[in-house]
Amino acid sequence: MADRDGVIWYDGELVPWRDATTHVLTHTLHYGMGVFEGERAYAADGGTAIFRLADHTDRLFRSAHIMGMPMPYDRETINEATRQAVRENGLESAYIRPMAFYGSEGMGLRATNLQVHVIIAAWGWGAYLGEEGMERGIRVRTSSHSRHHVNSSMCKAKANGNYINSMLALQEAVSCGYDEALLLDTEGFVAEGSGENLFVVRNGVLYTPELTAALEGITRETIVHLAEEAGIPVREKRMTRDEVYVADEAFFTGTAAEVTPVRELDGRTIGAGRRGPITEQLQTMYFELVHGRREPHHDWLDRV
Ligand code: PMP
Repeated sequence: MADRDGVIWYDGELVPWRDATTHVLTHTLHYGMGVFEGERAYAADGGTAIFRLADHTDRLFRSAHIMGMPMPYDRETINEATRQAVRENGLESAYIRPMAFYGSEGMGLRATNLQVHVIIAAWGWGAYLGEEGMERGIRVRTSSHSRHHVNSSMCKAKANGNYINSMLALQEAVSCGYDEALLLDTEGFVAEGSGENLFVVRNGVLYTPELTAALEGITRETIVHLAEEAGIPVREKRMTRDEVYVADEAFFTGTAAEVTPVRELDGRTIGAGRRGPITEQLQTMYFELVHGRREPHHDWLDRV
């Protein structure tokens, strides 16, 4: 990732990609206290557009607030810097990674003189779970690792350190031959994937777990809107893993994963074992939306 052409927005300046480095004593590298976002820009009708940029920036600021991290820039500066990171790299579509982290001004948990630094990088990235997964659906395994307890790491924050848990779960699932992990909360109810929210369909109703131990996904919220538009009833509820086994359809949502059907959980086929009709309908609506082909949501497309 480090050795490529392009520029990265780094503390207010556009820095050549290869020079966007930081010291090995960077505080966040040691303790994981940092916050970040994952966003996508799409080649939309009418020009490249970042999907729900303002909402992602708001979540970045909320994550920083939860972590007690003072943000050194205002929201509009970050919004414009994000557009710049896409524009200045000449990208038609992109994955975008803003991150705020503590620098190398001090070491130890008690360091008080730490500066918050902000980077925004953008690069081309295809389907996170593969093109085939988007059509056929992926195979998922319930993780032996629980999602963070709400009183240990706070799940409303998209915080760097939270992802140790995601990586442990994902590594386990992949080493067992699965595509993705499903994490349960500490009480045993379904929380989310390693980097996605979950939906299931049963008898024409769309269900998604309550947001206690799961991230407030922006794609999740988008899908709820689209389902309402399509007249599909949506319910948030506590969900057990066997409710996923007996669902008619299941899918993951996320900026990276977009809308990815889930065809199997723990060796149990879900529904017909392929992308279900409601999943396909919402997936199609989602792609129309991010590509600027659905009228009512144009304020969600931020042109670069
Ligand atoms: N849960 C986790 C743990 C995630 O990392 C992500 C990706 N940001 C999501 C859910 C989905 O969130 P969004 O739709 O905002 O990308």
